[in-house]
Amino acid sequence: MLDDKDRIFTNLYGMFDRSLKGAMARGQWDKTADLIARGRDNIVQEIKDSGLRGRGGAGFPTGLKWSFMPKGSDGRPSYLVVNADESEPGTCKDREIMRHDPHTLIEGSLIASFAMGAHTCYIYLRGEYVREREALQAAIDECYEAGLLGRNAANSGFDLDIHLHHGAGAYICGEETALLESLEGRKGMPRLKPPFPAGVGLYGCPTTVNNVESIAVVPTILRRGASWFEGFGRPNNTGTKIFAISGHVKAPCVVEEAMSIGLRELLERHCGGVRGGWKNLKAVIPGGSSVPLLPASLCDGAIMDFDWLQSQKSGLGTAAVIVMDQSTDVIKAIWRLAKFYKHESCGQCTPCREGTGWMMRVMDRLVTGDADPHEIDLLLDVTKQVEGHTICALGDAAAWPIQGLIRHFRNEIEDRIKAKRTGRVSAVAAE
Ligand code: SF4
Repeated sequence: MLDDKDRIFTNLYGMFDRSLKGAMARGQWDKTADLIARGRDNIVQEIKDSGLRGRGGAGFPTGLKWSFMPKGSDGRPSYLVVNADESEPGTCKDREIMRHDPHTLIEGSLIASFAMGAHTCYIYLRGEYVREREALQAAIDECYEAGLLGRNAANSGFDLDIHLHHGAGAYICGEETALLESLEGRKGMPRLKPPFPAGVGLYGCPTTVNNVESIAVVPTILRRGASWFEGFGRPNNTGTKIFAISGHVKAPCVVEEAMSIGLRELLERHCGGVRGGWKNLKAVIPGGSSVPLLPASLCDGAIMDFDWLQSQKSGLGTAAVIVMDQSTDVIKAIWRLAKFYKHESCGQCTPCREGTGWMMRVMDRLVTGDADPHEIDLLLDVTKQVEGHTICALGDAAAWPIQGLIRHFRNEIEDRIKAKRTGRVSAVAAE
């Protein structure tokens, strides 16, 4: 279990003062200029050495991503864009950082911007996050007043402006290139890659887009050292991590823990365990709604990190753990996600635009048991045709939960179809 002394986010529950004064009392903004004085290469190397992988879902190494930014300017400015569009169902971790510990993010943004030679940073905030905007804006204002932002930020000799941009509430704007389109004032539609944002990003300039948590952990990593951060978790899966646990546990919560913690330990230590006991567990979606679920049989020894979950054909994603007990109609639960992705598709590529609707309509019939048994394989085949054939990852996100359902709960789907045909039990109707 993670010791309190090793927690990066010391005000995750909002029990203490979130203002600049309170943040400083908890060790934030402590000699930030000295951290910056280490130099750009040193900071990037330290983040690489820490093993930090992006906390927004993809798990790409953060230090490596930073190193893609140009060392010198060709006349164009560079930008850091913080992705605070947290919209993945089940995910509510960045929200706690912004509401209760906003200075971790702002100090991290200053250091990260310096490390990438960006004098302007945008924080793109989810439209529904009104309280978070208020908290963040208040913190940014405090920093300008205290000389921690603007010219010669924190007496570092480096200039940085931070702009908070409040989105309009579209899931797809969490995709980094759609986010950039939206920031530029257009519809949030993902761009084809390449070119990647580090070459051609915001306003056609070099840009790095990072998740809130990825940036907010940076000052502590630099203060305590890469080896301290690397000491948690397993190789290639290091550091502390914020988990957001919801669903059928006794006490849903958001908690910072060591990476690679066991799933069972995570649920029993922090959430009071599964409702009705561990044996009552049916399935878990371990990383936000877009990753395939794990059935209970795989949950006993489950390790909550990127590599273990990937080895089970699932993923850590945003580390939003959705727990489902035996009372769950798992077919209907996945149908609900299919409906969500259909609704959020931006529609610009055919496999996603047509496929998400098609998959949802078959899922409608699976929920009620009105499908033909051969449609199960047909649905699986369609998910494979959507997966990997779209401009952005929303197509994969729509396909994977259904693939997980068919992989692990095919019997339940077949039973329901049989039951509907024989009239053995009444099927559950989709609303
Ligand atoms: Fe839009 Fe879907 Fe294509 Fe992404 S995969 S660009 S959301 S249509």
